[in-house]
Amino acid sequence: MRLCVACAVLGLGVSSVVSIDAQAVGRWWLDEPVRFIQTNLSETDSRVDPKALVAAVADFQANTFLINMGGIVAQYPTRVPFHYPSTFLPPGRDLVGEVLREARPRRIRVIGRFDLSKTQKPVFDEHPEWFFKRTSGEPAIYNGLYSTCINGNYYRQHAMAILTEALERYEVDGLFFNMFGNPASDYSGRPLGPCQCDACQVRYRARYGRAVPTAADADYRAFMADSSREVAASIAELIHRKRPNAAFLTYIKDYTDGIMSESNTAVGRALPLWPYSASDNVNRALGSEPGKVAVNLSMSFVDFPWRYAHVPPAETQLRLYQNMAHGGPPAFAMVGPMNQEDRQGLLAAKPVFQWHAEHEDLYVGQKNAARVLLLASGDTASYRGFFRLLTEQHVPFVVSENLRWIDDASRLFDLVIVPGRPARELERYLRNGGRLLIAGTTPPDLPVVRVAGPRTGTQGYWRVHDRAQLPSLKDTNLIFFDGEYVELEAVKPPLLTLIPTAMFGPPEKVWGDKVETTIPGVLFANYEKGRLAYFPWDIGDLYYRHSSPAHAGLMADVIDGLLPRGRQLKTKTHPLVELTVMEQPAHRRTLVHLVNATGHSDTAYFAPVEVRDIEIELAGGFNRARAVSLNMALTVTNRGNYRAFTLPSLKAYEVVVVE
Ligand SMILES: [Zn+2]
Repeated sequence: MRLCVACAVLGLGVSSVVSIDAQAVGRWWLDEPVRFIQTNLSETDSRVDPKALVAAVADFQANTFLINMGGIVAQYPTRVPFHYPSTFLPPGRDLVGEVLREARPRRIRVIGRFDLSKTQKPVFDEHPEWFFKRTSGEPAIYNGLYSTCINGNYYRQHAMAILTEALERYEVDGLFFNMFGNPASDYSGRPLGPCQCDACQVRYRARYGRAVPTAADADYRAFMADSSREVAASIAELIHRKRPNAAFLTYIKDYTDGIMSESNTAVGRALPLWPYSASDNVNRALGSEPGKVAVNLSMSFVDFPWRYAHVPPAETQLRLYQNMAHGGPPAFAMVGPMNQEDRQGLLAAKPVFQWHAEHEDLYVGQKNAARVLLLASGDTASYRGFFRLLTEQHVPFVVSENLRWIDDASRLFDLVIVPGRPARELERYLRNGGRLLIAGTTPPDLPVVRVAGPRTGTQGYWRVHDRAQLPSLKDTNLIFFDGEYVELEAVKPPLLTLIPTAMFGPPEKVWGDKVETTIPGVLFANYEKGRLAYFPWDIGDLYYRHSSPAHAGLMADVIDGLLPRGRQLKTKTHPLVELTVMEQPAHRRTLVHLVNATGHSDTAYFAPVEVRDIEIELAGGFNRARAVSLNMALTVTNRGNYRAFTLPSLKAYEVVVVE
């Protein structure tokens, strides 16, 4: 952060500082190293000493501080009607103003947190039309607070007055919004149903020609998403007009400067845990929106009822390293100020923040250099199966939720993997020479994919025929299969063919009625200039749930069969060592990050086991490799189109700088 230190030393006001800031900086969240910490304060925390709080943030080596500002509770003496300062603020205290004053000379950026989703009863009494209306006609009340509606004029008009005061009075570096839009359920998980307020009814009728439904459906969800986007557009315009160098951050993608996400846990969530949560969130955010910052908050707590009990330290560290390895800042969030009753989360995060501070030039302007793209469609098991397989196989990859890369000449990929329903636009990608792997029971609408029968289910096997193309399956003739498949026309010569469900008990009768078919389990085809592989079944889902090495080997062989110039990276290291390949164009260098996830087991996270002698071959020409954590140069040897080096030891995390 290029702050006018002299101004601060001379005791000049914040306004003098900011004018210099404005000229010198620009999009600080992209141009500067960011270490992000959030203290999410309860109203009773308004009594916190701002000096001590900022000193603790500085001691932690965080340089971006997200602190509560307004909305439900204002942490400053607001004068806007229907906006209430915390009743716990000591007389004369302006917590936001004092935090800013303490933070500036320490070069700490401050982001104000707003939550406009709820407010107090007197506002409801005066303006019931601003509020969420349940199907019963009642307002949605939680712990005495009334839910506002994204389409009412609290959000659409009055919020602008609240935010204008905040932005004009305080030199914030950004605003973050919690609960942006109408949540589907309250903090206790009780569903709220669709909002029936007049503002929603009028807008919904104009769009769909009928009343708001009494149960949320796809139309209502699309309506709500668009409602949030409309309000986001207004708030973005206001923030950027009032403070051109301030970031607009919330959990949605449109109009924001950054994509916020969380790595969190919940006691009611279905197992298995998703140990790549942070990698997934950051990779997906930057792969989908390359011009934004991806702030993935490692949430300290176990679940809402236990806001002050922290998740395992190794889980916190793993998330922070995953953030950094994929191009995001380390980001940690807790409820309450820095003097936590459970100190495990902060103790785990602090050395990672210190590491980042010591090596911060490594983490500015990172771009994913992977040559494989994985298309995300939600958080499906099929998607996660491929995500985990690629990670375990050490195939570097970019995740995208959209198809904008198809027409972006600066984003060329060797292979695109599509778990689930293929979008129509992919035909164009294939026609122009792209390589596609599609897996799922919705066949691509292409003449080379000839469907011969209906979609049906079975609990059978795929028989392996061709080991030249499927070398990983040398030790098995059979792959288990549970689920639906699309019957395609037979291919010659066969690679994999279906054995449908046959007798499986008692053992004396097993396979007594077994039938071998010619129904293919995978199809390779050329289409125009491109090449396609299609699994007419959900192999990603099966791998996610059962981790069969036969499914892994099959997917890996098909991927290798499609890559036109082989793998970008080759190594035989442990599957739980996650590798990413990132570029820093401004430094003309490549970074190979290694994140050691060997400490994860079932629902536990322990310290990772040291992994030794990791040999890596990386495509491309470079002469030098330096392991930053070990602080040593690694010998580089030439192997055709690859260069090889060996990392002697990996503890929790390492980054190798390749030039
Ligand atoms: Zn409404």
